Amino acid sequence: MKWFIGILFTMLLGHNGLSQTDYTAMRQTMVESQLKARGIFDKNTLKAMSKVPRHLFVPENQQIHAYSDGPLPIGMKQTISQPYMVAFMTQAIKPWKNKKVLEIGTGSGYQAAILAEIVDSVYTIEIIPELGKRAEKLLQSMQYENVKVRVGDGYDGWPEQAPFDAIIVTAGAEQIPEPLVEQLKDGGRMVIPVGPHHGVRDLILLTKKNDKIKKKSLMAVRFVPFTRND
Ligand code: SAH
Repeated sequence: MKWFIGILFTMLLGHNGLSQTDYTAMRQTMVESQLKARGIFDKNTLKAMSKVPRHLFVPENQQIHAYSDGPLPIGMKQTISQPYMVAFMTQAIKPWKNKKVLEIGTGSGYQAAILAEIVDSVYTIEIIPELGKRAEKLLQSMQYENVKVRVGDGYDGWPEQAPFDAIIVTAGAEQIPEPLVEQLKDGGRMVIPVGPHHGVRDLILLTKKNDKIKKKSLMAVRFVPFTRND
């Protein structure tokens, strides 16, 4: 009898005893205390962050921490960014103006799902095949049909689909990849963490207008490194 109740409990509540209702409540608290309280104002971003089940994008043993205020490990030495960072970068590209967005660094697929809630189509590139494949499967199972995942080096962007209204790079680069600047539409916005390897980097907002490039530093950030295929 005991084992039966145990199995039933796990089936209903998952491995750590939390129900969907608990996760929904934790997510709302995250939106209020980590996002709204710190100045995330864009309604589209807040709505997407309230909706997307972040706990499904992290390993099972991390699910209980999915709505905590920090990055989490997702395997292969990579991380899912802090919720605030995902919201901040999403808001920074003014997603309500965008139709087509490119993300470099799919990781768990969470940032892509947030974007997919707001814009028409999301193209996302991941250099680690295991992560790219896993994210693609997960996004498909969640019916995000407007996300296309590619495994490869994001340095070269996605020329077949260019130009993009916005580009989000979620790995820390030493320099801004030139192909990405070229693939940004006129009037487009790109956010990218830039700075020395393994150090604190600057989150740069790059804008393009009449072929003029402007860069502005938004804040100091830490990201896993942008790597290259040899
Ligand atoms: N946006 C992710 C977080 C990604 S962490 C999420 O929502 O979960 C950064 C990711 O960038 C890692 O998965 C890393 O493998 C990937 N990455 C690093 N360099 C890359 C490159 N050159 N091209 C594509 N992906 C890259």
